[in-house]
Amino acid sequence: MESFATQTILVSGATRGIGKAVAEAFLRAGATLIGIYAGNNDAASRFAEENQAYADRFSLHRCNVADEQEVGKLFTWIEENHQALDVLVNNAGIRRDALLAMMRTTHWQEVLDTNLTGSFLMARAAVLLMLKNRYGRIINITSPVAHLGFPGQANYAASKAGQMAMTRSLAREVARKKITVNCVSPGFIATDFIADLAEEQVAAYKKMVPMRRFGTPAEVAQAVLFLASPGASYITGTTLDVHGGL
Ligand code: NDP
Repeated sequence: MESFATQTILVSGATRGIGKAVAEAFLRAGATLIGIYAGNNDAASRFAEENQAYADRFSLHRCNVADEQEVGKLFTWIEENHQALDVLVNNAGIRRDALLAMMRTTHWQEVLDTNLTGSFLMARAAVLLMLKNRYGRIINITSPVAHLGFPGQANYAASKAGQMAMTRSLAREVARKKITVNCVSPGFIATDFIADLAEEQVAAYKKMVPMRRFGTPAEVAQAVLFLASPGASYITGTTLDVHGGL
């Protein structure tokens, strides 16, 4: 695995699920980690306990990515406490499923706010820091639902398709500044995110996947670290699927 020993990495949703695996993989690769989470303090404490060995190389922050002021404060802190920001992983995400005809406006809005506007607010602030340094890697965690569409996920699908479109536009804007912008698109990954699925649903979804199994957060982390590495310097504006052939 490449070393990220001189790099500062910002991961949203870093204390659970995919984000946790990504954050831990970066720590193992020598990076300095800034991890943010929404409000689950127990998960954040567990993360800190499990990663005590790296205590001098990470900080955890409670910050709602959908809140412009909170994101502003976070980036002020980053500028004051770190030399540069090398990598942003926009991983924080939520779902509020319902058939569109029954969908509450608040559930439409919450999902768009967190998944899409959150990615925008974080990317905007990160790009300004990365431009100063003329180096950066932005990775947005999207979903195959963006193009497949799933019943009950119109809000989620729209937010994930929006992330992909934003990725392609931003990639073109910053390509000449040695900043790359890509998506990683995980299929079904066993995390809290899909822990509410009924047993029959899990069985049916596993049948849809050519590999006949759900992926692990660690398998997604490998893809993120690859795109974040200096070796991925000529890859931008694209999506790397990690979905078992879905
Ligand atoms: P989890 O529900 O396991 O974890 C979500 C993480 O995001 C938590 O750390 C949570 O913080 C954080 N978070 C949620 N909302 C906010 C917010 N407003 N501000 C800051 N942090 C926030 O999800 P996964 O790990 O499974 O999913 C991670 C990403 O991967 C999401 O974007 C999801 O859409 C995407 N994805 C997941 C798939 C899957 O099957 N699991 C499939 C395809 C894509 P806290 O712990 O404080 O609640």
